[in-house]
Amino acid sequence: MLMGFGLIFSLIFGAVAGSFLNVCIDRIPRGQSVVYPPSHCPACERRLSPAELVPVASFLRQQGRCKECGEQIAPWYPVVEGATGIVFALLYWWYGFGATWIATVVLAGFLIVISGIDLQHRIIPNRVLLAALPLVAVWRGWQAAMGGNPGQVGADLLLGALFGGGLLYVLHVGSRGGLGLGDVKFAFVFGALLGWPAVVYALTLAGLAGTIFGIGGILCGELTRKSEIPFGPFLAFGVLTAFLAVQSSGGGTCLV
Ligand SMILES: [Zn+2]
Repeated sequence: MLMGFGLIFSLIFGAVAGSFLNVCIDRIPRGQSVVYPPSHCPACERRLSPAELVPVASFLRQQGRCKECGEQIAPWYPVVEGATGIVFALLYWWYGFGATWIATVVLAGFLIVISGIDLQHRIIPNRVLLAALPLVAVWRGWQAAMGGNPGQVGADLLLGALFGGGLLYVLHVGSRGGLGLGDVKFAFVFGALLGWPAVVYALTLAGLAGTIFGIGGILCGELTRKSEIPFGPFLAFGVLTAFLAVQSSGGGTCLV
């Protein structure tokens, strides 16, 4: 009974959070505020009514169009809302409500925004990475407060950041900028969150997933060797999987 309530709550909460993530994906690359002005149709600029703000359902009811001007609403809006709802519900199913759920849903939110922006604009804005720093600080502070050795937590944070940022910087230089500086900064920030050896798992998974996607794309004729694939979504996948794996294996910092 309670489990069912928690699942439905996190599904709905996730879908609502997803609609905010859409606003972030839309506005951050343009340098706009994510809180003001309130949501509006990008074509006719009419402010959306409460009914139009209902995630996924409003898109289906309006058949993907603005009620006023009939302009098509991009299909990734309901996809982000639905996916965020499912991810939040899965995380509740694994961890129940608590510090780990809060940390993992916030992390998932950041990773969804970064992936969405990188897919659409091929950039990872500093603004999102800077906004993720408090998450890293709070999570690491929490680990230290929960009985971790502060010196060890700090060393683990530094090691993760330097390994993640350092390795991708070498790849950035080696690929002559094929791998962007945004990816380097991403690996630095989330390397600090993950620490050692989770940062290694994350980057290995990201590299593997990107390679499989690239080879698959070439085999299917969708990509060529010269195609530029944004790496952010693969990094996001690696970071989330590694973070979840560490939490599931007892969590905490594990220095070598
Ligand atoms: Zn409109």
